[in-house]
Amino acid sequence: MIWSRKFTRIAGIDVHVHLTFFLILLWIGLSVWRQTADPIAVAQGIGFILILFACVVMHEFGHALTARRFGIKTLRITLLPIGGVATMEKMPDDPKQEILVALAGPAVNMAIAAVIWLYLSLGINPGELPTSQANPSILFTSVTHMLYSVMYLNIVLGVFNLLPAFPMDGGRVLRAALALYMPHYKATEKAATVGQGLALVMFILGLLYNPFLMLISVFIWLGAAGEAGAEKLQHALHGLTAKDIMLSTFTTLNGDDTLGKAIDLSVHSGQHNFPVKMDNGDLKVLTHPMLLTAVREHGEHTALRELSLPTLTCVEPHADAETLLKNLHSGKSLLFGVTKNHVLTGLISMEEVLEWLSLRQETAKGKKQF
Ligand SMILES: [Zn+2]
Repeated sequence: MIWSRKFTRIAGIDVHVHLTFFLILLWIGLSVWRQTADPIAVAQGIGFILILFACVVMHEFGHALTARRFGIKTLRITLLPIGGVATMEKMPDDPKQEILVALAGPAVNMAIAAVIWLYLSLGINPGELPTSQANPSILFTSVTHMLYSVMYLNIVLGVFNLLPAFPMDGGRVLRAALALYMPHYKATEKAATVGQGLALVMFILGLLYNPFLMLISVFIWLGAAGEAGAEKLQHALHGLTAKDIMLSTFTTLNGDDTLGKAIDLSVHSGQHNFPVKMDNGDLKVLTHPMLLTAVREHGEHTALRELSLPTLTCVEPHADAETLLKNLHSGKSLLFGVTKNHVLTGLISMEEVLEWLSLRQETAKGKKQF
């Protein structure tokens, strides 16, 4: 994700923090400062938000570690101002596994709340917190007081995530439950409709009570639309092979071609992604975003062999189109080369797939009209 940076690595999974997350901390710090002009209150406010987000990270690890049990890798966990996202290489194909992966996140929040509740019910007084003399009413006076708030917020987090608002956790449970009885893409479509309905309700409630809820509702709306669209595309490719959707007229660049030549070709031929044949015969990938970054950093006279480009993943003409799309969609692969008898005969990128789909939809429309 642009704007997010790797922060740490836990249990073999990179944890990224979106830079806007720091804006939330700054906003909390400033608003507490404006109310109190007290550094202790500011430290308490920021400290509490950090604890809350640590709980969000643990929630995401609940999803990630459960998915790992089913052999699914989590590429990264990203902390956003509105919560966390665990980006997995794919969702489990078995709906029962998807239900378990989705429930694991809220279960972690409930477990945290339960542990705090047990500790508090022991009646130990862990001590007072430093508070401001001028504003004794601000934030927390004791550790117990703070633990109560952390417990309460974990319950809220757990319950909120269980709302059946796809793509939130509860919505994923709903989708997977529906998928037990109908095709996966239909289940996603239905869950996305419910999700968007709830997002609308949330937006109206947010308008009345809390602007933060409005922000979350927009993310749910877009997320639901995005996932339903991706599933529809997936379904349209069902039963097709690489050969059916590949771009078969394209230019292959060489190691001694310059970035300038690639730009020229891109402008005049409309080809955005290029295979590059290196001097030793290896095939590499130069995508459009890579091309733009490379020109900016190295200038247009640089030869392609001087860049470190990723290797082109090659597949057979009869490779399953749906699987290829899954890899393109998750960002695991940017471009596929289709080879027949070791000769590159086609290219497949997200643009080709989308182009193919829109053309197919137009022809379908045409057939209906005549
Ligand atoms: Zn979750």
